Amino acid sequence: MTMSLAAALAHLLVAQAGQDSDRIYAGLAEKYRVEFLEAQGRDLPSGFDRHPDIHWTAADADARREYARLIAEEMGRYPARLVELSGLKRVVVCADLTSQGKAVGGRSDPGTIWLNAKAENARLKRRLFHHEFFHLLEFNQIPPGGFSNQFLVEWESICGREAYDATSSAADPRKEGFINYYARKNPSEDRAEIYSMLLVMNKELKIIRSLDVKVDLKANLIQKHILISCPQIGERFWSMPPSPVE
Ligand SMILES: [Zn+2]
Repeated sequence: MTMSLAAALAHLLVAQAGQDSDRIYAGLAEKYRVEFLEAQGRDLPSGFDRHPDIHWTAADADARREYARLIAEEMGRYPARLVELSGLKRVVVCADLTSQGKAVGGRSDPGTIWLNAKAENARLKRRLFHHEFFHLLEFNQIPPGGFSNQFLVEWESICGREAYDATSSAADPRKEGFINYYARKNPSEDRAEIYSMLLVMNKELKIIRSLDVKVDLKANLIQKHILISCPQIGERFWSMPPSPVE
């Protein structure tokens, strides 16, 4: 094979990957009224200049194609109403994502989530989508009675503010009431972590819930309030078969 033929083939494969994800995203965009971007950080649509602390590059074709498939599977579980309640308008699938100078797997701002298509494995990528999505639900204060004062009071009654520690690190052992060190950072991260685990690692979470009553209470509270806010999700939403280990 000559170099020019190899280059042409590589170009064709990249174009094909773009078409694959374009097709997937077109279907999701129609159902959820959300736009999907895979552009480099410098190719910003107007309005993105209000995020000077977030930087990213375009992911490679394989990573883009894989994440499009994962997002289609995970987002496809959502009723359109839940997405509407979150205020999600735009998903940026990218690589080399940094926020305030630190490498991150995802980031959310009202209306927009960024996802690092180079995150270490498919299960983490699935969770990142739900984690960032949940932040938007909080930002948007799901009506009626979602993240109301009542919800926050109930949440705080489970383990209190003093249990959180912004400096907690991966080296710390799991503490009672928390699913991992990251959940201990603050209540928002705690809720986003439990929510993403409910959807992607329900089997593993069930074991933790059976051993840790505080985690169980928190998971129940999240489920109860989402159901109040969005009755369209129903019980089946939480009992989807666990994702295959990838
Ligand atoms: Zn978060």
